[in-house]
Amino acid sequence: MIIVKSIYGFSREKLEKYFLSIGSKKYHALQLFDWLYVKRIKDYSEITNIKKEVIEKISSEYSISPLKIVEVQRDKDVYKYLFELYDGEHIEAVLMMHDYGKSICVSSQVGCNMGCKFCESGRRKKVRNLETYEMVLQILMVEEDIKSRISHVVVMGIGEPFDNYDNLVDFFKIINDQKGINIGSRHITVSTCGIIPKIEEFSNLDMQINLAISLHAPNNKLRDELMPINKVYPLDKLIPCLKEYVKKTNRRLTFEYIMLKDINDREEDAKELVKLVRGINCYINLIPYNETNNIGYKRTNTVQIMRFYDILKKNNINVTIRREFGGNISAACGQLRSKKEEV
Ligand code: SF4
Repeated sequence: MIIVKSIYGFSREKLEKYFLSIGSKKYHALQLFDWLYVKRIKDYSEITNIKKEVIEKISSEYSISPLKIVEVQRDKDVYKYLFELYDGEHIEAVLMMHDYGKSICVSSQVGCNMGCKFCESGRRKKVRNLETYEMVLQILMVEEDIKSRISHVVVMGIGEPFDNYDNLVDFFKIINDQKGINIGSRHITVSTCGIIPKIEEFSNLDMQINLAISLHAPNNKLRDELMPINKVYPLDKLIPCLKEYVKKTNRRLTFEYIMLKDINDREEDAKELVKLVRGINCYINLIPYNETNNIGYKRTNTVQIMRFYDILKKNNINVTIRREFGGNISAACGQLRSKKEEV
């Protein structure tokens, strides 16, 4: 397989090392970042302040090509982008216009191995991790399309981000760099199904990035059924790990909880959930389920969602109900796919 290396895969730190490794100057990293992320050049020939030989060397090794946007579906304030990658694989990203700014949900893998039963994205096994540049370019290309800046990033598209940890961290560094895409770390959120060793590693990362946990069940029995990862990292290990994470980082966690009719939405589930998260600095995000043709789960009705919400509220748990986005174009949570023919 052709390995495509892209200039958009370098954090500034790594770019500085690269320039030194080719016998050039470290400060070129800052200059190049300015060309790539501030001036947004399309071709190396536009660079005027780095020697021609150095540019020739870089361009012989690293591509500056964008991703190919195959399709954009627009539904009011939600745009869904289908990208084609260098090897013909496809991924999706979703842009949402909020009152507080523009937020993008990016993918981190082609397919996903976690097999969550309610998730369309996980129906296709992982084909490969996305390279750092493939995550960075999702943002750059959407910004170019809308001719405006994106203020918030969530890594909740196709894939389990912590199963692609090293590329993810470089991605964070590039988008958070003030000389890069410059998105504040508190405006970046990563969501995991609960891979404990990576949560521990993430707690040592010196960046204030938000962590969301896909919880979706208040006990091991149900979570085992919905999310196979729970058999590897069950709640009795995950919850103490998360308590430790909050203690260490002093950051508030988000728990994502998809509401599935008659599965995890009963009053006793709400009460059990209260007990599970009691004492953790967190809030729970209740997500109305988006039904798909391929998966049998049904959506909890609004009255039941409100009942569930009230139980959490009365027990002093911070809780929100996610505003619904993109259901008409299958751009909502858990509906993204990585295969073009299925889109
Ligand atoms: S919910 Fe996330 S981790 Fe689970 S299968 Fe879907 S993409 Fe993978």
